[in-house]
Amino acid sequence: MPSDPSHSVSPTRRPTDEAYLDDDPFDPPSSLLTLPWADCHNHAHTLSWEDRERYAISGCRAMVMVASGYHWTPYKPVDAADVQFLWDDVVNRRRAIERNHFFETGLALGIHTGVRITNPDDLLALMEEYCELDEVVALGETGITPAQHAESWGLDEQRAVVQAQMELADTYDLPVLLHTPNQIEDGPDYRPGVGLPGFESNTSLGQDPVLTGDNPELEAVKMDVEAAADAGLAEERIVASHADSNNVDYLLGETDCYASFTVGYPWLTGVTATDVAEAIHEYGPDRVLMDTDCANILKTDVFSVKKAIFELYRLGIDVDDIRQVVWENPRGLFGFDDFEDEDY
Ligand SMILES: [Zn+2]
Repeated sequence: MPSDPSHSVSPTRRPTDEAYLDDDPFDPPSSLLTLPWADCHNHAHTLSWEDRERYAISGCRAMVMVASGYHWTPYKPVDAADVQFLWDDVVNRRRAIERNHFFETGLALGIHTGVRITNPDDLLALMEEYCELDEVVALGETGITPAQHAESWGLDEQRAVVQAQMELADTYDLPVLLHTPNQIEDGPDYRPGVGLPGFESNTSLGQDPVLTGDNPELEAVKMDVEAAADAGLAEERIVASHADSNNVDYLLGETDCYASFTVGYPWLTGVTATDVAEAIHEYGPDRVLMDTDCANILKTDVFSVKKAIFELYRLGIDVDDIRQVVWENPRGLFGFDDFEDEDY
């Protein structure tokens, strides 16, 4: 029952809300303010120093920096040496990034299929040696892409490259980060020539799809899982990044894959903490993760996972389950330090 404002001993001139409110059952979860979290998919080495500092300020303990994207290779089609440059760039700078910002960094190196690569076998041969590096904690991002940039790449060729990376992942006991295509709703109509504001890409160079049908985005993921089976890679070694409402029931309901929700650019994908909460309510937290996928070529939010931590709590997810999603699950997959001697 509300308290009787006439009995208030408050010094306020007249009763405020405080005089009417019951004892509030809400107990603010202050542990969320310092909860350790990991970003299991980003391109932080392409961001500014200040952006990486923002990761540290918001309590990011560890991250997987992904070097595979065609966005950063200037020539089309892409040559093996172009992609190797991306791998070498992140290898070159990783330790300096750790020294500057104190979070732990692991690397994911991959062959992305968003642009045709002229000599993928040369790249796969090189990749084997990179798998031996301690700092390489995953392969990817990779996965069947329904439509390429600048020049198409046939499905059979794409599938062969994806499967070959999965075979290497199995051999070297590494997880694979899948780039699962999002189903993207039509956005606003922009004037001709503007492209897609927020995405530094010449979107007019998008090619006709090589994978068609009612739901090519989901079909691509299913082909990836088939390729993993053919490669002998266990489904529980697959982290499907860019989980969304189109693929989550397949990933969590019909496979043993992990589903990582990219919450860094909902303006493009529509994916938010609400999708993550629904997945946890439906399937539990054991195979759910989050990532920012922050990159310099896209309007992305470094703080998005940290903000989602708070939002998940507001949406009814327990602190222990949030911690599992943002820390325990990525730690188990990518082998980050456990900080077990520290008191959280
Ligand atoms: Zn990415």
